[in-house]
Amino acid sequence: NPPSLPLTLIVATTPIRVASPATPDHEMTRLGIGLKGTLPWPRIKTDMSFFARVTSRPPTPGTTNAIIMGRKTYDSVPKSLRPLAKRISVVITRDTSGSVREGVLQELEARKAKMAAKAAESAAAGTAPTPADEPITDAIVTPSLDAALSELDSVYGSSGRLGKIFVIGGAEIYGASLRMNFGALPRPVRVVMTNVVRKPEGGNEIPYECDTFWPLDTMDQSNGWRSASPEELTEWVGEEVTGEWKREGEVEVQMVGFEKLD
Ligand code: NDP
Repeated sequence: NPPSLPLTLIVATTPIRVASPATPDHEMTRLGIGLKGTLPWPRIKTDMSFFARVTSRPPTPGTTNAIIMGRKTYDSVPKSLRPLAKRISVVITRDTSGSVREGVLQELEARKAKMAAKAAESAAAGTAPTPADEPITDAIVTPSLDAALSELDSVYGSSGRLGKIFVIGGAEIYGASLRMNFGALPRPVRVVMTNVVRKPEGGNEIPYECDTFWPLDTMDQSNGWRSASPEELTEWVGEEVTGEWKREGEVEVQMVGFEKLD
């Protein structure tokens, strides 16, 4: 058996100072990821395009990456963009009525129809057709993370069409991924994190309001994690990452990586 594919959690976080639960007169930093069902910050192009490139780019021609998400994160994607193109969306829900599944599959059909119409348009305009080994756009709905991984494996893995596997949120699904016990088939667990800090040029940091947080407050040797070097992160994501802070308007962003120790 080939070694199991790594599971890569991809997330953007912003540091929030909060009172420590154990000693309320002490502060600690938590990593905010969401507010009221959406992101805590207005669109950050640098991060959105990084996310799109990294999750869509297949490791080899003819394969498609999977993006696993909670039902609430699926709902947070604008209707016109979901399921996200050129990726296999895996939506996790406890819904047993079938309505979540039906909704996702309906949106998949609408999305595919729109993409087909666009392809026909460019064919009529004489533009180069889409190569046959381009990633596909697909979606499945599963009742757990475990089911998500086995379904990906049985539906796409056996035919060699499965690329990388990403977990794209939100907090509940990141938590489930970090608690997951892979048993006899261990797989590396990695985190690709965009640090987001609002800091107007020459001014002080202005924290974002958040109501949803990354499940871990630390990621170092003390709890079984190590930081990836920029070179490693570059290899994981398939494009050059320097680890430097970049400014976009009043926001500064930096991409970093972590790997869970065995
Ligand atoms: P999630 O996106 O994790 O979705 C939660 C839903 O997933 C649950 O309501 C349930 O769906 C389903 N679910 C969760 N656990 C299980 C399980 N063990 N078995 C089966 N189904 C399960 O929601 P969160 O509220 O945690 O996170 C959403 C927030 O995070 C939003 O604000 C979003 O914008 C933000 N976000 C931020 C990201 C970032 O990088 N900063 C990335 C992704 C999201 P159901 O109710 O249908 O049963």
